[in-house]
Amino acid sequence: MSLKINFQRFRHSWTALKVRRFISHLLIGKNSYPMVFKKADSFKKLKSSHVYIHIPFCKTICPHCPYNKVSFRQDLYDSYKDSLLNEISDYLALEKIPYIQSLYFGGGSPSMTPELIASVIDRFKDYFVRDIEIGVEVHPQDASLKMLNYLKQTGVNKISLGIETFREDLLRRLGRFYSVDEAINSVKNAQTIGFECIDINLIYGISGQNVTDSQKDVQRCIELGVDHISAYPLMTFIHTTLGKEVNRGEFNHYDDTKRVETQKIISQACLQAGYKRTSVWSFTKDNKLPYTTVTRENYIGFGSGAGSKVNGIFWFNTFSVNEYIKSKGVKPAIMLETTDKFRRFHWLYWQIYNTKIDIKKYHYIFQRDLNTDFGAMLTFFKIIGWLWQEENAWCLTERGSIWGHRLQMLFSLSYIDKVWKECQQDPWPEKIVLY
Ligand code: SF4
Repeated sequence: MSLKINFQRFRHSWTALKVRRFISHLLIGKNSYPMVFKKADSFKKLKSSHVYIHIPFCKTICPHCPYNKVSFRQDLYDSYKDSLLNEISDYLALEKIPYIQSLYFGGGSPSMTPELIASVIDRFKDYFVRDIEIGVEVHPQDASLKMLNYLKQTGVNKISLGIETFREDLLRRLGRFYSVDEAINSVKNAQTIGFECIDINLIYGISGQNVTDSQKDVQRCIELGVDHISAYPLMTFIHTTLGKEVNRGEFNHYDDTKRVETQKIISQACLQAGYKRTSVWSFTKDNKLPYTTVTRENYIGFGSGAGSKVNGIFWFNTFSVNEYIKSKGVKPAIMLETTDKFRRFHWLYWQIYNTKIDIKKYHYIFQRDLNTDFGAMLTFFKIIGWLWQEENAWCLTERGSIWGHRLQMLFSLSYIDKVWKECQQDPWPEKIVLY
């Protein structure tokens, strides 16, 4: 009898819910469970040195896309631009704004509207530290020499190219309408202009794709000499067009075995080529810093649907672009306040994502000893071969990274899926309960 689990089916099952409940109770305590996002009525904006800007416009909408996005329309964009810049100005009018260490633009396709990126940078620039990171997600179809040069002149020093795959028929299946030559040219153009970090995003597990295709995709990135490679499994969020196709049985998924096989092949190719693992699904050239948006302890987001996390409080702006434009001043729609124990687990979760748990950093943030709080659990993971120990850190082994990857998927599909789905259905939800 096969004991293989169909991950996609399992995650929605009653058993999976029970397992999640049990683990959550055990880890974060009953005071934090279930997690309840409530309406952010009396919200006072917090501050952070790490900033995220959400620009939700796209030329076409991809069927697998879970993000908050809308089709580009000039009038909508013009109003959005004003609203975004107003939200930023309101924030900058607060007292004691900290210096900004990183500023990332995501979407949507922010590279469609480079003049908005320039305006945002201009608005924040008095607060920049000298070596600020400014990163932009770039759609391959936007990546002309002219546009990339414009971004560089505004101060952008990192870009992430959402190429996804170098097989043309699979690109069409993802609803992406560029050729392989255009994808390759986008990388070459970025290299000609020169950025501190050029990342390529790849997706594996597309219907019709096989393990060898993913191997070739990664090999192509290595040959092109990019600084950072992010390879994600195609995740089917239930609220997307793809999620609905999967539920109707119209889309063939990778099972867990094939996904793990692909991960191993990608990882081998990157490590052999001299890249080092910098997260459960990304690899970076040795002398480069990774392209990363969500792994900071604190960050503050602006724009429709932007998420923020400061001092253990999470919040999301309204997902409705129209409501975002209409609402004056208050943009947050929902918020979640967490306990200290929850924050420590949440921090641990992101360190697992980063494949390294720094003992001194934990002490600096929480004024507590990591080994006293989590030593037994970490030792257990060491015994089963997921972790190894160095003087001041616990590090994920390659085997541990595969499990870390599963954990990431389960988290995204269990929690983020529900919050984003409800926020996309209701611009101002009363509450969202996460079991
Ligand atoms: S995947 Fe990217 S380009 Fe496609 S709809 Fe989503 S945000 Fe837009």
